[in-house]
Amino acid sequence: MTYIDTYKHKGLRRKMIERLKARGINDNRILQVMDEIPRHVFLQEDAVPEHVYEDKAFPIWAGQTISHPYTVAFQTLLLNPQKGEKVLEIGTGCGYQTAILAKLGAKVYSIERQRELNEKAKYHLSLFNLSARLVYGDGFKGLPAHAPYQKILVTCGAPYLPEELINQLDINGLMVIPIGEKEQIMTVIIKNADGSIVKEEVGKFSFVPMLQEKQDINQKIFFKKT
Ligand code: SAH
Repeated sequence: MTYIDTYKHKGLRRKMIERLKARGINDNRILQVMDEIPRHVFLQEDAVPEHVYEDKAFPIWAGQTISHPYTVAFQTLLLNPQKGEKVLEIGTGCGYQTAILAKLGAKVYSIERQRELNEKAKYHLSLFNLSARLVYGDGFKGLPAHAPYQKILVTCGAPYLPEELINQLDINGLMVIPIGEKEQIMTVIIKNADGSIVKEEVGKFSFVPMLQEKQDINQKIFFKKT
């Protein structure tokens, strides 16, 4: 298994990195891994390279999107993952953010509710020999079997702060979560030793929604109709 990364791709990626720097991404570790991991490999084969490396969200499979390069860089900067830390990601998508976290040396667990994307992401990570545990499931429930996590990163727009994720966050752990329905407020949460949390809001973003289990969605529709 292999992938194609041409001089053209590399040049476009360099420019992407320069734009990220200009927008305040100042962590060289993050800039380096985003330069090393070719974003286009995570997208459909016919995706136009010039578009892939622009600061845009991009359609992937199952009606979902890959996050903007800036959003990925900014969330990673806030999360500040360290080597060996256990990180739980909610919303694997095509696995681009997952690959960035794994390449930074974190022990990554990532949950995705679309089976097709869970499988695509597994394939993408295998291309780079990166290991991460990719789970098909519901992010609202987290992954209690491997808790606690030092860091939790939510990459879809959460309607509220899911209690289960707070429960699975380690003491002194940090969570980055965009909260809101139409647009989201990027929120950083730290869990104190007594279990209480501190919240900081750091700007507006736009994510695809974090959806409840399919069963729940059907139930909601059913109740609305009656
Ligand atoms: N981390 C990805 C972001 C993909 S978009 C990247 O690097 O680009 C967000 C993803 O969250 C979508 O694939 C969507 O299917 C997924 N998602 C939405 N609700 C979810 C839930 N309840 N549990 C797990 N994944 C969810």
